[in-house]
Amino acid sequence: ALREGFATIPSTTFASIGALDDHIRELTETVISPIRDPAVYTKLGLPAWSGTLLWGPPGCGKTLLAKACANASHANFISVKGPELLNKYLGESERAVRQVFTRARSSVPVIVFFDELDALVPTRDGGVGGGSEASARVVNTLLAELDGVGHSREGIYFIAATNRPDIIDPAMLRPGRLDMFLYVGLPDAEGRVEILRTLCKKVNDLVFDESVATIARECDGFSGADLESLLRRAGLAAVRRIKSSGGPDTIITQDFLHAKTEVRRSVGVEDITKF
Ligand code: ATP
Repeated sequence: ALREGFATIPSTTFASIGALDDHIRELTETVISPIRDPAVYTKLGLPAWSGTLLWGPPGCGKTLLAKACANASHANFISVKGPELLNKYLGESERAVRQVFTRARSSVPVIVFFDELDALVPTRDGGVGGGSEASARVVNTLLAELDGVGHSREGIYFIAATNRPDIIDPAMLRPGRLDMFLYVGLPDAEGRVEILRTLCKKVNDLVFDESVATIARECDGFSGADLESLLRRAGLAAVRRIKSSGGPDTIITQDFLHAKTEVRRSVGVEDITKF
C-alpha cells in the first residue's frame, strides 16, 4: 500500500515549473526557508507553519510544487495518496497513517506529501465512509501525528493536496494543522505560454517562437497536464511527418497545430470547486 512511500530527495526543480512564481515565492518563505535556515525562525520565536494545503483542479502543478519544495530544501520526500492508506480492516488505516510518520521520523528533514487528502479525511457528507466512526479514527490519528502527540514533529513538514477542499473534515483545517492554503488554479493565456515554454525545453532543437506561443494562448481552459499532452501529441505528429514527408527533425508549429485538434481540456468549468 505504501509503494510510493520511499524517502528520497526528488529531482523535480522549480525551473521545471512554469507560471507559478507567486506560489514558489510563498512556499519558499513558508516551507523552504524554515527547513534550510531554522535558526532564524527559532531565534524570532516564530511558530513554524504546521502544514500547507495545495488545492485546485487536477493537473495544475500541485504535486510538482511539493516535490520541488523538497528538492529546493534538500529534504527527503515521502509521497502517499489518501486512498492507498484506506483499509477496510479495523485499525489498519490508522496504522498505515502512523507508519508514514514513523518512516518520516527516520528521514528528517522530510516533506510528507498526502495527495488526495479528501479521500482519507472526508467530512460527514463527503466521500465513502465520511463521518463514520472509522473515518473519525483516521482523522484523529492524523491530527495526533500533526500535533506531535507522543513524538516530536521536528523536521517533518506536511503538505497535502486536494481537488475537493470542501469535503475535507474541518478539524483538519484548523490553525495548527493545515494552516496555509494555496490555490493552484488553471493557468491564464500567458501562464499557458510559460508552461508550454518550460515543457518544450526538454525537446531537442525545438524553437519556441511566437507561433507556438499563440497556439498555447488559444488552448483555453488547458491545465499544465493538458499542455503536456499537447506536447506529446505534437511529438507523435512530428514523427509521422518526418517519416512521411521529411522536414525538420524536431517539433514544429505544424505539429502543434495537428496536436491541437486531438487534445481537449480535461477540466470543465463545472469541475472547479469553490472553497
Ligand atoms: P492532481 O490533482 O491530478 O494530482 P496535480 O495538480 O498534482 O494534479 P501535477 O501532477 O503536479 O498536477 O502535474 C501533472 C503534470 O502536468 C506534470 O507532470 C507536468 O508535466 C504538467 N504540469 C502541470 N502544471 C505545470 C506547470 N505549472 N509547469 C510545468 N508543467 C506542469
